[in-house]
Amino acid sequence: MMRREWEVIVVGAGPGGSTAAARLAAEGVEVLLVDKERFPREKPCSDIYGPFGARTYEELGVYERLLEAGYRYPSVVLTSPDYTAISGPNHKGLTCPRRIGDNILKENAARLGAEVWEECWVHDLVVEDGRVRGVKAKYQGEFLELRSKIVIGADGSHSWVAKRLGLFRDDYEQVYLAGRAYFKGCNPPLRDVEVHYDPGFTPGFVCLSPHPGYGDVVNMGVGIQMKLYVDSQLNAEEMVARFVAESPHGEKMRGATQVSRWMGWRVPSAGQIGRNHAAGALLVGDAGSFVEPFILEGVASAVRSANYAARTALEALRDGDFSEESMARYAEKWEAKMLPQLRALQGIAVTAADPKALNRTFQALKEDPEAVSRVFGG
Ligand SMILES: Cc1cc2nc3c(=O)[nH]c(=O)nc-3n(C[C@H](O)[C@H](O)[C@H](O)COP(=O)(O)OP(=O)(O)OC[C@H]3O[C@@H](n4cnc5c(N)ncnc54)[C@H](O)[C@@H]3O)c2cc1C
Repeated sequence: MMRREWEVIVVGAGPGGSTAAARLAAEGVEVLLVDKERFPREKPCSDIYGPFGARTYEELGVYERLLEAGYRYPSVVLTSPDYTAISGPNHKGLTCPRRIGDNILKENAARLGAEVWEECWVHDLVVEDGRVRGVKAKYQGEFLELRSKIVIGADGSHSWVAKRLGLFRDDYEQVYLAGRAYFKGCNPPLRDVEVHYDPGFTPGFVCLSPHPGYGDVVNMGVGIQMKLYVDSQLNAEEMVARFVAESPHGEKMRGATQVSRWMGWRVPSAGQIGRNHAAGALLVGDAGSFVEPFILEGVASAVRSANYAARTALEALRDGDFSEESMARYAEKWEAKMLPQLRALQGIAVTAADPKALNRTFQALKEDPEAVSRVFGG
């Protein structure tokens, strides 16, 4: 007989969901982690597991494994439309294809004791007396009701859990379109992570991230605010082609060959962050719009929000209190620990639509290396 009840159900086994499940399982909580995909699965991304997630990977005993599969780039270089460059050394961030890295994180959650169901599609929540009491899911051809004391929605940018809770936000000034494809033949080979707010590309940016261990392919990605994109005649692929043809930073990609198709996705930035809890439920990562708003790093934010969600869930289980007030302890944690940095990056992001303002921001950051590492990590 298939089990139907856990203390916590986590929906989505990306970095956010796997971290929440791993944290809870490590504390002896009975947790089910479900994902609609079979892993390893693709996730369009520039494949940067940023430095702010590293401590969690270390605590969960998985950092070395990620590093073996990935690449620790020496530094990050960012440039503005007038080619002002800021850069900082990287100590703990790494690149790793998401289909590999996310699988490692999911396997680690299982190793720590989480039960993992893949190809399990959550299509509704169980709500009783105004409190979330589980999920409705399709698994192995059967429609099932799976019950829990808490549901953690980590189901990504199109979060069905957020929609069902009435917490889904879609402000086109705070949501971004991002895409990526892999290229072979970068010359000279790329070693740093590069993010270019290039004049030919304004108001978006191009991100180049290296994969020396995977045939030295380069992940070339783009990010642009959704409102600017849909209001314009811009085409992301054409913009990248122009960057490669015209920018001094695109020169090294001129002889490179595209070796994968372009994949794009919706990126909900923290510019629209709001309530991410309800009675019996918490939202982490993209489901809760935790993506940092400037260079759109969302992996580390998903991991960090998952830490606070797991801690909140542990407190609620200890107290036997799953009310909205109890879940609001989650907001206290992420607002105190994450919001100042997210707001600082939002402050930079709003200047991105105006090249002159962005140049001034970069010039100011260049004078303040401490601010750079506070905001971007190292
Ligand atoms: C092109 C692009 C480049 C990016 N580059 C970077 C980068 O380099 N570094 C960075 O930090 N961030 C980057 N981001 C953002 C980053 O990808 C996300 O912020 C991050 O993946 C969020 O993690 P998550 O765990 O919240 O969600 P996800 O990684 O999206 O995982 C959600 C999981 O939920 C599952 N799921 C969804 N719906 C259901 C359902 N109904 N039932 C069951 N399972 C479900 C999905 O299959 C998925 O596995 C980029 C985004 C894009 C689009």
